[in-house]
Amino acid sequence: MKFYKIYLDEGKRKKFAEAATLSKIIGEDIECTTCNSKWVKSIIERPIKIILTRNYLPDYTAILPEQKIVSERMKEIIEQYSLAKCTFDKIITKTVDQLTDQQIVDFKMEGENISKFCTIPSSYFTINLNAGISIHSDMNVLLHKCEECGRRNFTKLKEEKSMLLNYILDYSTWNGQDLFTETHFTNLFICTERFVEICKLEKITGLGFDEIKVI
Ligand SMILES: [Zn+2]
Repeated sequence: MKFYKIYLDEGKRKKFAEAATLSKIIGEDIECTTCNSKWVKSIIERPIKIILTRNYLPDYTAILPEQKIVSERMKEIIEQYSLAKCTFDKIITKTVDQLTDQQIVDFKMEGENISKFCTIPSSYFTINLNAGISIHSDMNVLLHKCEECGRRNFTKLKEEKSMLLNYILDYSTWNGQDLFTETHFTNLFICTERFVEICKLEKITGLGFDEIKVI
């Protein structure tokens, strides 16, 4: 059985629309005396409202590293093939003619090209995925989670050339699902070979797959 890390595919010849948020993202400053850390927790205002930056719509994208979103079609495929233990929340997807004057001003300030923004109504959902596998001890990282503030962190026990983590997953911890996150690295979306095959068959767009080591 092969496992893959899912990444966002921007599109090859033609770039996919990205999701620009119309909801406020509030940065909450956390100063925790238990783990002695200062960090910023991002909280997105609900219900989540977005606009897509083009008319070329992907089935899979994200608004924050932890907040992946899927098209209605991808949601149906996940349900139809029972690919994951997850829940979905409908998000509000606006088209360019529904933007307020203030939102248009804000996007122009950010240098966005409003003239290309999405004009087609679409239906998207946030996906809340369960953990389905844990990393293997051979990965040589020490995991920390602060029970007080919820901050997750890790320490590399061995120096690696790459700044990126070389994930190694522990097969014995797998829950048998086809799409899931890692227990500690909850922003990491992982899938099986079966998931990849179904995405290809159903022509699901906006995501790519990198094989990940499993022992
Ligand atoms: Zn803490």
